[in-house]
Formats: sequence, C-alpha cells, structure tokens
Amino acid sequence: MLIRTEGIVLKTQKYGEADLIVTFLTSDKGIINAFAKSPRKTRSRFGSSLEPLTHTKISLWGKEQSLPKITQADIIDSFHQIRENYNDFVNISKLVEILISLMPAGIPNKRIFSFFLNILHTVKASNQESRDALHLITRIRLLAAIGYAPRLKGCGRCGHESLDFYPDSGTTLCSKCAVTPDRAGKPFMRINNKVIHFYLHSIEWPIHISNRLKPASQTLAELSGLLDKHLTFLLSKKLKSSEFHPNSIRPQYKVSL
Ligand SMILES: [Zn+2]
Repeated sequence: MLIRTEGIVLKTQKYGEADLIVTFLTSDKGIINAFAKSPRKTRSRFGSSLEPLTHTKISLWGKEQSLPKITQADIIDSFHQIRENYNDFVNISKLVEILISLMPAGIPNKRIFSFFLNILHTVKASNQESRDALHLITRIRLLAAIGYAPRLKGCGRCGHESLDFYPDSGTTLCSKCAVTPDRAGKPFMRINNKVIHFYLHSIEWPIHISNRLKPASQTLAELSGLLDKHLTFLLSKKLKSSEFHPNSIRPQYKVSL
C-alpha cells in the first residue's frame, strides 16, 4: 500500500549498518515509524530530508502498523535554523518528547500536526530576545492541545482560590482539599498570581501575538520549574532533554545523519 502524506521528522534511530528508523508526526496518520534504507550512506537519495524537525512530503510503502519503507522524502522546510541553535533545539526537543510520550501512535490528528508546524514556523521567525518566553508558551500550549496541561485556576476539586500546586494531581488544591487522608504529606509548590496570570494568558492568546506577553524572568523560571515537575510526574521520568541546561557548556552531540 502506498501512503502519501506530509510529515515532520520527530526523531531518528540508527538501524544496522546504514539504515534508519524515522519517527514522523504526519498530517494524515498521526505519529508513525518508517524505515529508510541506507540514508546514512553518502550520496543517499534522501539527502538531508530525514534530519530532525524537517517538514517533508513523504511516500511510504507498506502497512503503517508494520514499519513501512520510505520511498521518497521531499523537503518542504528544513527548519535547519532551529536545529543549529542549541537553545531552540533543546526546547523543541522537549515538545518532541511530550508528543512521543503522551500522544497515542497511529491516531490521525490534523490539528496537532498543524499546531506543531505552526510552532516551528513561529520559533523560526521570532526575535531572539523573546525566545525564552515563547518556548515556555509553546510547551504550555502543546500540553493544553493534547489535554495534559496543569490546572492553575483555583482548586481542582472545589474551585476555591489556591496558590499551592500539587504535581501528583496536576492541579492547584486549596488547603481543605489538599489534606484529605489519602493526600497527607504530598509535596506541593507555592506559586503566585503573576505565574497564574501569565500561564492563563499563554493558553488563551493566539500564539502569534504571544510576544506581547512580557513576563519577568522570575515568573518564567517559576513556571518553567512547575512544568518540569508536572511533566516529571506525567512521564514518570525526568524529560531527558531537561537534563541539558540551555546556555551551559554545549555537550558533544550530533544531529546530522
Ligand atoms: Zn478545594
């Protein structure tokens, strides 16, 4: 069966001597894995079309459940600017990990495909100064789009005001609801109204005007820490990509094939 669709390369894994397994977020088939024969050999016909984050037109041969073979991949946008900027690449890698970990494979979702593509275009076109806020906003919005955003608007059980976020529940809880016998001693994080305010705007405002939000660096840091805790709980493991700190010494890593 021939499948033609648009895809964004989420990740690649080496397979054998010269072959590759590529994970795509596609517009028609959701997240799928596909097999590329010998793309790591020089003068491969795939060129750089299977680099992470590349938006391509792909043709696949075989059944989508049983590792179809990539027969053609034509670049629509390489997004090499994102790959070549360490801070951007680390931040977008977090989104990729969220997608791969939390989205069921093989379920078509055109909305998420367009959404992720829009994020890549927005990051590519944005000003360097507003990137830290933008990356945080994209993480929040992606979580909201796939239904895993934390709740920070009042107590998640009764709706009363609360500034205490409980990662194990993914929500703020008021002092009454947080101390029920089943919840004794659960760790929480005290947040403030600026964090909540910025968070709610991040979700509600269209992403292309989100650069009008000008959060203080303290607010960004607190919310970023909260999201990391939330994700750690969700994924039951720390996001691999959050072990690298943007702006720290660049570790040896290679994204080219
Ligand atoms: Zn409550």
